[in-house]
Amino acid sequence: MKVAVFSTKAYDREFLNAANIAAHSNHELIYFDARLEPKTAPLAAECSAICVFVNDDVGAETLITLAKQGVRFVVLRSTGFNNVDLKMAAELGIKVARVTTYSPFSVAEHAVGLILMLNRKLYRAYNRVRDDNFSLEGLLGFDLHGRTVGVVGTGKIGSIFAQIMHGFGCQLLGYDPYPNPNFEAIGASRYVQLSELFENADIISLHVPLFPETYHMIDANAIGQMKPGVMLINTSRGALIDTKAAIEGIKSGRIGYLGIDVYEQEDELFFQDLSNTIIQDDNFQLLQSFPNVVITAHQAFFTRNALEDISRTTIKNLTDFEQGRPCSNEVKQPEKIPATTSVE
Ligand code: NAD
Repeated sequence: MKVAVFSTKAYDREFLNAANIAAHSNHELIYFDARLEPKTAPLAAECSAICVFVNDDVGAETLITLAKQGVRFVVLRSTGFNNVDLKMAAELGIKVARVTTYSPFSVAEHAVGLILMLNRKLYRAYNRVRDDNFSLEGLLGFDLHGRTVGVVGTGKIGSIFAQIMHGFGCQLLGYDPYPNPNFEAIGASRYVQLSELFENADIISLHVPLFPETYHMIDANAIGQMKPGVMLINTSRGALIDTKAAIEGIKSGRIGYLGIDVYEQEDELFFQDLSNTIIQDDNFQLLQSFPNVVITAHQAFFTRNALEDISRTTIKNLTDFEQGRPCSNEVKQPEKIPATTSVE
């Protein structure tokens, strides 16, 4: 089957080609660097399927163009599917599938990495030592042991993140409308209402999908309920946090540390080398200027294990569609994300 694969880098091509060969699938993968959006949708001419990533625009306008060209299947190389207009896809008879599960350890471990960067100021220490500055002034950290960690969303990633933090000796507060036995089985963990989590957590980590209900769930009101000096970690989706409210929270000292792998307007920035350009996003530049903010560019998923899982599932999704088999990873509208009961 001919597949237009958007937003690809060398590593995507390497892993997808390997998975295509390993599965003896023979899909004709046509790679594009370009991000999918209405004006690049014509690149998929003569393709029955397209393959996209987190910042591709699979909105109504794009889908209409794709449908006119004969595209009948959209396969996401991601877990999240907030960038797809599922209603329009269904109306146009376009099926959508995603990678329901891939190494959740990749993201959970990255969230922990952001915490350690911030609480021990490792990013500052690294630069200082490279400059032969061996002073410890300004690097004073705090022990994680005994701290209370709030886990918002205790699905696959959140529950593994919670297990790791339990290893540090942290108390765990969870919030999830669909409780996960894996979270409850961790010692020193309990489910609470979101407001109680906000009020009591020293560190809050977000592991919920971006839905209309979770858009800006961390706004000025939520930040106002948090402990002064709280550490906020987001490895899920940028728009869970109202960026302007977070900036105000940092300025007032309510947020003591911010670690983000995702950013609300990241589609204009991430996955490209912009080191020779003038960044026009003032909010992003402001965040970068704060000494207690660490930003990584949506790399939490980026481990060899995760890329192998993503590519294998993507090829399988394409083959299921080609052969008319039911696809277990199909995303239907509307979808309720169920709580997970295993940590595979
Ligand atoms: P999951 O479906 O296993 O878990 C999500 C959990 O969120 C579920 O338990 C669900 O019940 C819960 N939830 C839904 N609405 C909620 C709400 N309003 N409040 C609290 N909890 C709510 O998903 P996962 O595999 O753990 O992934 C979580 C998110 O991580 C994804 O949706 C994606 O956005 C993000 N992600 C980021 C990266 C990255 O590279 N940064 C990679 C993969 C996934």
